[in-house]
Amino acid sequence: MFNVEDIRKDFPILSRKVNGKPLMYFDNAATSQTPQQVINTLVEYYSNYNANIHRGVHTLSQEATDLYEQARQKIQKHFNAKFSHEIIFTSGTTHGINLIANGFSSLLKKEDEIIVSALEHHSNIVPWQMLCEQTGAVLKVIPMDEDGTLIMSVFDELLSEKTKLVFVNHISNALGTINPIEYIIENAHKAGAAVLIDGAQSSPHIKPDVQKLDVDFYVASAHKMCGPTGVGMLYGKEEWLKKLPPYQGGGEMIAEVTFEKTTYAELPHKFEAGTPNIAGGITFGAAIDYMNGIGFDHIASYENELLEYATEKLLQIEGLKIYGTTKEKTAVISFNLEGIHPYDVGTILDKLGIAVRTGHHCAQPIMDFYKIPGTVRASFAFYNTKAEIDALIEGVKKAKMMLS
Ligand SMILES: *Cc1c(COP(=O)(O)O)cnc(C)c1O
Repeated sequence: MFNVEDIRKDFPILSRKVNGKPLMYFDNAATSQTPQQVINTLVEYYSNYNANIHRGVHTLSQEATDLYEQARQKIQKHFNAKFSHEIIFTSGTTHGINLIANGFSSLLKKEDEIIVSALEHHSNIVPWQMLCEQTGAVLKVIPMDEDGTLIMSVFDELLSEKTKLVFVNHISNALGTINPIEYIIENAHKAGAAVLIDGAQSSPHIKPDVQKLDVDFYVASAHKMCGPTGVGMLYGKEEWLKKLPPYQGGGEMIAEVTFEKTTYAELPHKFEAGTPNIAGGITFGAAIDYMNGIGFDHIASYENELLEYATEKLLQIEGLKIYGTTKEKTAVISFNLEGIHPYDVGTILDKLGIAVRTGHHCAQPIMDFYKIPGTVRASFAFYNTKAEIDALIEGVKKAKMMLS
């Protein structure tokens, strides 16, 4: 059923060499690789269907519009939204978060509160700081524990009738921690607050059900789900999307324009000003098809196997410390070698054809918590193998030898 060697054949990039060595790609939390089927969709679009959408009476424009709207429906079905107009195409997770932050600027008043978590990506911190500056609202933070989990008892204490909005990522990109979003959503709702979940890290591993979660907003990026860069999705409950003002003005998002007054288009177009990333949206749909073809159950169980295998082997290296040690985590391993800068480890691994990420992973507050400048992060996908992990272990040992 799940055969990693067959799957690897779908990814042309996996057969290239880097520095004379076969590429071993462990930077999947930053962006995932793209299978040939998905690349084909992009090529096919530009070869056969390229036209602007929604406005044209000609055949090409209608075909492009149909493909784009079909992709929206695929995304709707995948995330189990009630309506396709609850899916807004964005340029990615960051755009989706900013769209919501901007929307709330007219709904918040002084001393209202927004809760975020200590495990957030910078894209999930800065927009709320800007929103607070604009509105006088106050930002509260759910702190984290040594093992990289959020301290839920403090979350309970932070919640009050002042809380208007709670934002957490489903999975931390820096540590791989899976956050208890069911609990967070349920209790935020009891306090009368709305919840936005950043699904950038979870959507490549878990198939979320936005209706079952009862989440108000959920955002993700195609490029972390075997899709193209520059496109993503925002799910919002219909009632919320109707309530929020548009983010940008322009073509496509209006119903009628006069110099006295403009009325806005119906959902989802109200939030989709200008010519969107049509090719990207259609290709995003193909990426979702591809991942569902493999099956998220298979993906999750295989990646978990890789995680356990790599964790056990890495911990056998003396002086190696893993950050984020909870059982509730995905296949992301953040680590350091004692006394060695992560950047130096990453540079040696790169010479061996091994791609890892080094640094603060856009999550500086987490690094501050551990009092470290950054980590080496290896993040696995379903197309990685145990043989590659063996090579990673050997590479880390070599780096340790050379640097200590
Ligand atoms: C990657 C990532 C983002 C930002 O996604 P973009 O595609 O760069 O907009 C936000 N949050 C998390 C948890 C991420 O992993």
